[in-house]
Amino acid sequence: MSGPADTRVMPLSDEAIAEAARLVLAGELVAVPTETVYGLAADATNADAVARIYAAKGRPRFNPLIVHVPDLEAAERIGRFDGEARKLANKYWPGPLTLVVPLVKGAAIPGIVTAGLETIALRIPAHPAMQALLKACDRPLAAPSANASGLISPTRASHVLASLKGRIPLVIDGGATQRGIESTIIAATDGRLRLLRRGPIEIDAIEVKRASAIEAPGQLASHYAPKKPLRLDATGAEDGEYLIGFGPVSGDVSLSETGDPVEAAARLFDLLHKADASPAQRIAIAPVPGDGIAAAIRDRLKRAAAPRP
Ligand code: AMP
Ligand code: MG
Repeated sequence: MSGPADTRVMPLSDEAIAEAARLVLAGELVAVPTETVYGLAADATNADAVARIYAAKGRPRFNPLIVHVPDLEAAERIGRFDGEARKLANKYWPGPLTLVVPLVKGAAIPGIVTAGLETIALRIPAHPAMQALLKACDRPLAAPSANASGLISPTRASHVLASLKGRIPLVIDGGATQRGIESTIIAATDGRLRLLRRGPIEIDAIEVKRASAIEAPGQLASHYAPKKPLRLDATGAEDGEYLIGFGPVSGDVSLSETGDPVEAAARLFDLLHKADASPAQRIAIAPVPGDGIAAAIRDRLKRAAAPRP
């Protein structure tokens, strides 16, 4: 995928926030400082925009993304908070804490954001730049770290440029970030709290009473798989199969009729859900050739098709 030819850097100002909001609402990506690291923000309700995050970062597979919201009211429209989760939210938000909670059914969050999980990672950031952008956009923003996948997280605008120059239209320069490491992640999904990632917030043993060993973040995404068997690299449907097409392979639905991998990534998880819900017994999916985000799609599909443990 080709990105914008050049990347503008604007110092944090009202004008910069207005320009960033205009871009985000048009489905573009903007790098913006938070108190942890610089985030690569996209409209979390726009699957194509979120797919661009994976393309720009060259992210090898679909880790679920953290969604940033301006306040608890906005958070509760997307996630279901039990008593424990609300206690942590009240104590640490706004701040560098991410809470993984059950996703509200019918929330306007496409499957690519959560990697098809029924939970969502939410955070209210404290940094004035991200807060201002959230208010100006008036919608939730998905934002992983603003760096090419595999590189060190960016804590300055120059770090963002070093890895994403030419791939995104705008970086808002708010100086060095305060925390410099990614948010603490706690899951509150099944009546207990689990520490998923250590971060700037030191959660003491009392708060996360029944914490198990730290679970490596990212691994949870691999739990996702359709309920039905999935056959890869299909060029046609066999009996009883629901075919997800791509490019020249047309099926019951298509990831992208024009063979655009960014569109395919944006639609992937939603179409797998649709196939699972169809009357067909099995799912088949067309080959998705290519590098970059196409490889990310294949990696995800390979895991979705793997025999379950
Ligand atoms: P980053 O790539 O630094 O933005 O980190 C996002 C982290 O949040 C990843 O390591 C994910 O594993 C984790 N995460 C996001 N959503 C979820 C979720 N629904 N369940 C568990 N972990 C999540
Ligand atoms: Mg990262």
